[in-house]
Amino acid sequence: MSLNTESLGKILELECNKGYSDSAVIGGLDRFLHNWAGQAAESITAPGLLKRFGKLHLLDSKYASLTTEQRKEWMDSLVGFLAELETGEREEGKAKPAPSVNRSKPKPRTNRTVVGQTIDSPITVIKGISPKLAARFNSLGVITIRDLLHFFPHRHLDYSQRKPISELAEGNEETILANVWQAQEIRLGGRRSTEAIVGDDTGNVRVVWFNNPYLARTLGTNSRLVISGRVSLFKGRHVFQSPEWELVEDKELIHVGRLVPLYSLTRGLRPRQVRKLMKEVIDQWAWQVEDFLPPELRERCNLMELPQAISQAHFPEDEASKDKARLRLAFDELFILQLGVLSKKRDWQEGQPGSPINTSTSVLETFLNSLPFTLTPAQHKALEQILADLEKPRAMSRLLQGDVGSGKTVVALAALLMAAADSFQGALMAPTEILAEQHFSTICQLLSRTGNLKEEADYLKIFSRLLPRPLTVAMLIGAVPRKRKREIQQLILDGDIDIVVGTHALIQKDVEFHRLGLAVVDEQHRFGVEQRLALRQKGFNPHVSVMTATPIPRTLALTLYGDLDLSVIDEMPPGRQAVRTKWLKPAQRMSAYVFIRKQVAEGRQAFIICPLIEESEAVQARAANVEYERLSQEVFPDLSLGLLHGRIKSTEKEDVMRSFHSGELNILVATPVVEVGIDVPNASVMLVESADRFGLSQLHQFRGRVGRGQEQSYCMLLAENPSQVARERLDIIENVQDGFQLAEEDLKLRGPGEFFGTRQSGLPDLKMARLSDVGLLELARSEAIRLFENDKNLAKPEHQPLAKELARAWMSQAGEQS
Ligand code: ADP
Ligand code: MG
Repeated sequence: MSLNTESLGKILELECNKGYSDSAVIGGLDRFLHNWAGQAAESITAPGLLKRFGKLHLLDSKYASLTTEQRKEWMDSLVGFLAELETGEREEGKAKPAPSVNRSKPKPRTNRTVVGQTIDSPITVIKGISPKLAARFNSLGVITIRDLLHFFPHRHLDYSQRKPISELAEGNEETILANVWQAQEIRLGGRRSTEAIVGDDTGNVRVVWFNNPYLARTLGTNSRLVISGRVSLFKGRHVFQSPEWELVEDKELIHVGRLVPLYSLTRGLRPRQVRKLMKEVIDQWAWQVEDFLPPELRERCNLMELPQAISQAHFPEDEASKDKARLRLAFDELFILQLGVLSKKRDWQEGQPGSPINTSTSVLETFLNSLPFTLTPAQHKALEQILADLEKPRAMSRLLQGDVGSGKTVVALAALLMAAADSFQGALMAPTEILAEQHFSTICQLLSRTGNLKEEADYLKIFSRLLPRPLTVAMLIGAVPRKRKREIQQLILDGDIDIVVGTHALIQKDVEFHRLGLAVVDEQHRFGVEQRLALRQKGFNPHVSVMTATPIPRTLALTLYGDLDLSVIDEMPPGRQAVRTKWLKPAQRMSAYVFIRKQVAEGRQAFIICPLIEESEAVQARAANVEYERLSQEVFPDLSLGLLHGRIKSTEKEDVMRSFHSGELNILVATPVVEVGIDVPNASVMLVESADRFGLSQLHQFRGRVGRGQEQSYCMLLAENPSQVARERLDIIENVQDGFQLAEEDLKLRGPGEFFGTRQSGLPDLKMARLSDVGLLELARSEAIRLFENDKNLAKPEHQPLAKELARAWMSQAGEQS
């Protein structure tokens, strides 16, 4: 064992500089010397030195009790002894030069790859990954080495700026390079822990690691160490508590002294272990990742090379490289996403010829003239865009976006009518049964203004006079009796039904069309790219329009629905009033009931939205039942109430809806299912229970159920105990009426993941891209379009790596969905 005179020398020097105040080491010099001398005694072999050593009485020194003068004298003799000791020890070699803690350049390609291993090999081929460890990574979705390379840290700690100990500031995240003077096991709060005194040439500082006694053995006296962590104050002195640490050898630092990656880990994966492993994996494998971007594109967009980007995303040299790396990786995600949606659009439009629909008939005029209102300019514009698409031999795929109540249904109906007029069939698909029923009844109502209604049955209506022949409209929902369902399906197959309204599920699964020309899909966020493709695979290539009331910022629409063209109805029908919205405290529930009663007395109707218990429909239904009983027996015994939830039989549901429509019911108690679509203009007040549990967009959808008539409408939001974020939301919804603005706010508050999980939309995951990457998104989109113009099928040899990457990204997504 080599005796560590250097550290003691430094301490003595510091003590001397501090005027012999016994402050160079925390805990006092005597305690430190006692430890030091214990080791020294074992390692001094020369008899002369040993004798002098004994005379110094270092094992039981009394420095603390000496006067300053005595201290100086005693110190001189100690320093002299150390000098002698040093000369005696010289042979053992000089003190190591301090290794550089600067960031080193990325390692050059180390071709240690074993034959047969590729970056698509399972991570178990990596040395140091046991099956057990692999299982833990697997649970994070990391299966192959490629996955591991793309297992990016969620953030980095900046430990790159080294500070002298004398300049440490309490409360800051700081990094120091220091010598270990002393490390020992101590008990802290009854737990075995490690305490160390470390120092540099400006001072010393105490470091403790709770609950980790083993470190005391790892940190040999005078080992060199980088420590990164928050500086706190204990009994007036600086201390690092359980900081990150790393012994300095002649290698690149991983855990400290740099931008240190933090990974989102699962049980059984330790941060230090993962970081160390990642460093090795990246040094070995990142350089073997093929850069799939065509070089001229990469240069044009000024993007970092892929291997470097992967490496820098994990262990960046500095902030700037970290940002550049993220930019490159985010670009890749958006670019691949755009290529994917564009290629789907290409398949969609060119795989089969579409069905051009002749829209220049007088039918449209007849229909529009029959309406009780005139279309708003925004509705007109959207309709024109749709009709222009229908005329084309390429299948339309268009997103029709408009705030709740902006009047999308009538636009869709006009288009469906055009299809029917040209002997095509049309389908209107809704996400829920209730909404399908609602659409059916709305459509029938609108058509019956001209068309003589020939009531055939609940599920089938025939209208004359609109077309030169009778127009047949049918509804297909789960509640239709089996026999009727089969009849309707047969009529659709024979081409005897013009327009069918139903749920997504039913129309997609069970229906064969005779000649489907147009499919309108309501509420797109439950209807992804894949489902749209499924429609096409039924042997048709119909025009498709997707309607959404969820206002998506344009950039986001391009990301998620890049295969769709966009029409926006950005204007409300005239006469709509803002819905007065108020957030009430629990104590105000009674006054809310009083208010509802007053509205009802004036002839209006009310919605009461039940508390959101949990996702389970059964639990929701039970809770709604209880609430309904309570309201109708205790609160409004004299009024007539109806109940609507997911477990009510369809026939009953329809009854309830009908009696609410007709005004028989004063109050409709409902689970949050009414979110979509219900249209009762006489309803002027809504009470939402547990409003704090809904997002802004959802609250806005609820609120859209009222304010559809001429009367001033009200929305009361009850929140028991809202969190800070919920409070912000409630404040915003009270003051903002505009759905788009709310969507933007929602995005800010909740982040894109919650607002619109890319996963549920059927698209590859975005890890590095952010919704705020507007410029990057537009760049990715324009580059994708450019590439397609030049090589539509990615058939050119130089685009092969890209084609492979595209297939991989979209295929793994399809795999996850099934
Ligand atoms: P959403 O876009 O939310 O689906 P709807 O299509 O249900 O909206 O329309 C909401 C209400 O507005 C319906 O009662 C509808 O008849 C009515 N409406 C639609 N267009 C107009 C218009 N141009 N003028 C007046 N009322 C309209
Ligand atoms: Mg609607």
